Amino acid sequence: MAAPQKGDLSESERKILQLIDAGDVKEVDRLLASNAVRVNCLDEYGMTPLMHAAYKGKEDMCRLLLQHGADVNCNQHEYGYTALMFAGLSGKTTITSMMLEAGAETDVVNSVGRTAAQMAAFVGQHDCVTVINNFFSRSRLEFYTKPQGQEKEPLLPPVLAEPLHKIIMTANLNPVKIVMLVKENPVLVDMAALEKCYQVMNLLCEQCVKQQDMNEVLAMKMHYISCVLQKCLAFLQKRDDKLDALVKSLLRGRESDGFPQYQEKFIRDCIKKFPYCEATLLQQLVRSITPVEIGNDPTAYSVLTQALTGQMAFVDADYCVTCGERGADKRCSLCKAVTYCSLNCQKLHWFTHKKMCRSLREQDADLDKDTPRLKELKDDESDLVMETANFLQELVLRAEEKVAAAAGGCPAELLACPSTSTEGQSFTRD
Ligand SMILES: [Zn+2]
Ligand SMILES: [Zn+2]
Repeated sequence: MAAPQKGDLSESERKILQLIDAGDVKEVDRLLASNAVRVNCLDEYGMTPLMHAAYKGKEDMCRLLLQHGADVNCNQHEYGYTALMFAGLSGKTTITSMMLEAGAETDVVNSVGRTAAQMAAFVGQHDCVTVINNFFSRSRLEFYTKPQGQEKEPLLPPVLAEPLHKIIMTANLNPVKIVMLVKENPVLVDMAALEKCYQVMNLLCEQCVKQQDMNEVLAMKMHYISCVLQKCLAFLQKRDDKLDALVKSLLRGRESDGFPQYQEKFIRDCIKKFPYCEATLLQQLVRSITPVEIGNDPTAYSVLTQALTGQMAFVDADYCVTCGERGADKRCSLCKAVTYCSLNCQKLHWFTHKKMCRSLREQDADLDKDTPRLKELKDDESDLVMETANFLQELVLRAEEKVAAAAGGCPAELLACPSTSTEGQSFTRD
């Protein structure tokens, strides 16, 4: 069959474009199955049915068209738009992911030299930008699970591919989160495994720089993940309490204001160690962070997040102060000044937050000094219950630290805390 020509549509094909607009999945399915329609037919602008469905944000329709063999990389549009570009413009992350899973190329440009991610950013669809910029196909990683050329062993043992792919795909670049992703997979908490993983990440970084359309964003991400994995490896080698010690180092706030300066310095170091110094992204990042005094905004973490995920982070969502996950809905019940995604994250943070918690509470009280006490009571009618819960929470957390200290590796000062049961927990949900 000859390749479809622009505007050369049969009656059924014209009909199907209308049905896509109307969202009539059943009828479209029937027509596609009847063979009266070429799934990659082109309208007068060179748009395929899949492009129409993606642009209109019709998720079911996109899935159906792909099942019927729609070409996700068809590039006959008059201005060089692809289905992925239309998906990005639509603002639908599910459709954007679907196009990527179906093999959409991310580095194709339209007639004015813009990629899908750049077009989505231009119209403010930042979540789609994040999805595109963080996509990395599983098959590209699986390449390293097979011996190449003279190799007897593959560079990456197949069992490591899935957990490593999960880390590569994360849009949350908080180093604590990445260490947690390592920790949750026992196969990764192993020196030989970490070594293989970071070496593969370095190769991927190099590949992203040297490929025809250099992808600096992905290269930086691969490099950054490699740095975190190397840090995990260093802690496994040297420390008894291993990755927990790394998490604590990353979270520990400095005396003066609780700012996690080890984390800040670590991320700055990672960026500066990027091996391709001519990369414009590197120069831009270094320019953004160098003049900032440690402890001030923007943090290296926020600069990196914005550069790699395209997300204007920290604007309207609550982020977990421990791991950086979005949508954190739990607050420290004592100061109510910090949010967490889970009880576990609160526990991890307590050893350092407890030093700041009181002064955060006092700051809050200062702000409220002029407002009548009555208002506060109204805001939180269960004050007494809360106070009891807060007291218990503090005891539980201290007891847990004592247990951790007994297991080794905790500062001596914590040994002085009162002993109590580790049962029970309290948390406020706002
Ligand atoms: Zn968290
Ligand atoms: Zn607090």
